[in-house]
Amino acid sequence: MGKAGEKFGAPVEAGKGERFLPFLMKVLTCKQALPLQIHPDKELSRRLHRKNPKQFADFNHKPEIAVALTPFLGFAGFQPIITIKSLLTSIPELDALLRPFESYQTFISATPKATSADLKELVRSVLRMDPKSDASGLLKTVKDALAAGTGMAAPEKEARDGNDVDAAIEGLLSRFEREGVEAFGKAELGDEEKKRLVKALKKMQEFYKGDPGSIVAAFMMNLIELRPGEGIYVGADGVHAWLDGQIIELMATSDNVLNLGFVPAAEKDSVDLFIDAVTCEPKSGEEYKLSKQEWKLSSGAGATIYKVPTEEFSLYHVDGDAQKSTTIKPLNGPTVCIVTAVNTTAGKITQTGTVDDSSARAEVDDIKRGQVYLIGAGTEVEFAPGVEVWASFWDDQEQEQSGTA
Ligand SMILES: [Zn+2]
Repeated sequence: MGKAGEKFGAPVEAGKGERFLPFLMKVLTCKQALPLQIHPDKELSRRLHRKNPKQFADFNHKPEIAVALTPFLGFAGFQPIITIKSLLTSIPELDALLRPFESYQTFISATPKATSADLKELVRSVLRMDPKSDASGLLKTVKDALAAGTGMAAPEKEARDGNDVDAAIEGLLSRFEREGVEAFGKAELGDEEKKRLVKALKKMQEFYKGDPGSIVAAFMMNLIELRPGEGIYVGADGVHAWLDGQIIELMATSDNVLNLGFVPAAEKDSVDLFIDAVTCEPKSGEEYKLSKQEWKLSSGAGATIYKVPTEEFSLYHVDGDAQKSTTIKPLNGPTVCIVTAVNTTAGKITQTGTVDDSSARAEVDDIKRGQVYLIGAGTEVEFAPGVEVWASFWDDQEQEQSGTA
């Protein structure tokens, strides 16, 4: 990448005079559940860095976006309280699992409804659950509850060496095998959403059987499915866990993370630290989705710009199926682009101008899939037809135009 940057002739002049790239872009393939995590905001990052610079190496926050390259499944943010309550109370296995907790009693009995603070306490109880618990008590409670008039049959499969969490999830899954969406009782969720949730639960059980993080993710968070080209935004302190699919992931430059689920127990960060830091403003999955539109700074076939509500980065996409080339006007910050497809024998990127020399010109032929280019500030760039590119960049004019819409 450094070499390409030199070839392109422009200095790496990131936003606000800083000499580093304010963002980090990855192509990520999730084949198993990635950690349930949050990235602390700037203030907490600073505190954590001071206390433990080895684990928290920088003091930046890390809002991030994920745009799907293939169909994608992931969890982001907490669901509306009313949905959480309806799920937990309609599924006897979950109700039995959580009933011993005072925080659960408070959560389900609060009128008119529980608060974010009540939800945080419930999450704390779940994440602190004993991973070595004996499931027999739970199974009996579920059996009794089912026998007492719900009309639902008891789970066939008894979790032998699993814990409570495992037994609760397996119980629901085994009833789903027989009863289909009816296994969710009166839970206020569409049939497609129920099926999607079962798919997610199986995936989590496959890799992290009986992880209490599964209860938090599956029944308290938004399960989001993206089609290729659709994206989501997770702000600093926003809880998320990716399950399946290939994405472009773009984030502010930071390595700070608190992992709470789908990781070996020893890696789990303090539950209390997580609970203090996590943003807990329940909203629907739709509200996490990024909007996109044709980009004014592009011409020819044109690029699509994603509206990212953060100042550190933006993202554009150049479609590889276009018949015409696409030109991007000079930006006043750096761009990092990843070539994800070349549907032509003559893949080419042409650049004109640098911050110092408006007549400088550089051409790169023989563009191939998987290549990464750094484009300096002040450079106009033209992508030949057939070259598909995802590009992250910083530009203050663009940031002003997109704003925090
Ligand atoms: Zn993350």
